[in-house]
Amino acid sequence: MSNQLPQKRIALFGSTGSIGTQALDVIRANPGLFTAEVLTAQSNDELLIKQAIEFSPNIVVIGDEKKYTKVKAALQHTHVKVFAGEQALEDVAALDCYDMMLAGIVGFAGLKPTLKAVESGKAIGLANKETLVVAGDIVMRKAVENRAPIIPVDSEHSAIFQCLVGETRNPIEKVILTASGGPFLGKKPNFLVNVKRDHALQHPNWSMGAKITIDSATLMNKGLEMIEAKWLFNLKAEQVQVVVHPQSIIHSMVQFEDGSIKAQMGLPDMKLPIQYAMAFPQRIKNKFPRYDFRKPGQLNFEEPDTKTFRNLLLATDALFKGGNMPCILNAANEIAVFAFLRNRIGFLDMTDLIEKTMQNIPFIEKPTLEEYFESDAEARNFAASLIKL
Ligand code: NAD
Ligand code: MG
Repeated sequence: MSNQLPQKRIALFGSTGSIGTQALDVIRANPGLFTAEVLTAQSNDELLIKQAIEFSPNIVVIGDEKKYTKVKAALQHTHVKVFAGEQALEDVAALDCYDMMLAGIVGFAGLKPTLKAVESGKAIGLANKETLVVAGDIVMRKAVENRAPIIPVDSEHSAIFQCLVGETRNPIEKVILTASGGPFLGKKPNFLVNVKRDHALQHPNWSMGAKITIDSATLMNKGLEMIEAKWLFNLKAEQVQVVVHPQSIIHSMVQFEDGSIKAQMGLPDMKLPIQYAMAFPQRIKNKFPRYDFRKPGQLNFEEPDTKTFRNLLLATDALFKGGNMPCILNAANEIAVFAFLRNRIGFLDMTDLIEKTMQNIPFIEKPTLEEYFESDAEARNFAASLIKL
């Protein structure tokens, strides 16, 4: 019975986001299994306060230091300790008071706290794919050195992880990442050139934070996921393949050396990979809707249109090139998405901006952590200067 497990103390980094709030749904539904020990948010003080009152964590961190006084005042009659600022995120990540970090911060900002948790030997439920895109070699090496298990939360990687259970001695021939294709599947550049923010924010299958929703519309998300898969599963670049599967029922597949393919399937719902990562190796019983094969429906597959969605090509280049190139790609993409979300540049301009940045920032084959940080800053500055941000 699942409720015989010891309670796992979860540190939820990015608790006010799409991943964070769904992780809290899982905790709320399984109070015997999990406690929310740490909650963090960047700027949404109101939701953070509400969450703290409901879940009584040991610690909350508000990233935006200007909001510290308000959060502190709202929680003064509770036992919750309140900290603020970027450094506090790292300091709290290194504390002993929790068992697993659920890394749900978006973007490069998630890297430092996640690294601290890894260095402290904590289990990581990893949603923040940018951590591995930027510095996958260092993060994975430190995870091995500190015996910090990294369990993927990203649905594709959770699928691959689940396919690999019981296959420790069997080499992978390749992994096949499925992509929904996003809201603009089948569209061509003459359509995309006019796409605006609000249109791009509507994803057909998943409801997610703004940045990853735009990444899904440009297919950059799948590119980042190729790089994430390489590091998580110790693959060569050529072992990672992408196939478009618009229904998002197969969450990804692993092909073994005998040609056999395993797939993990289900209705698209991020709570499933979140709770799988949190409870691993157990599965938690739930009442989420089930996929029914008897209902009329189709599962379709096609090759991604990389002539139109060139971000996927740029990410594939970065995957093959390695070094600091994925870090540069990621930084330029964060600037591009930021600018697009503020209607500063068009949909297709995002690709040009990333491409120019990749061509301009010096390549480093084996960067140190410091060099990754420098490449990130240089790429951001360069990309921002191109669009006068
Ligand atoms: P979101 O924008 O909804 O939430 C982001 C969270 O991070 C918020 O709690 C926010 O307060 C915090 N945050 C933002 N900027 C920060 C900063 N500079 N410093 C500290 N905290 C900061 O994002 P999301 O959709 O929940 O995605 C989170 C991560 O999970 C991303 O890396 C994304 O790629 C990945 N992911 C998300 C989904 C999904 O369904 N949403 C699926 C797979 C992977
Ligand atoms: Mg994904």
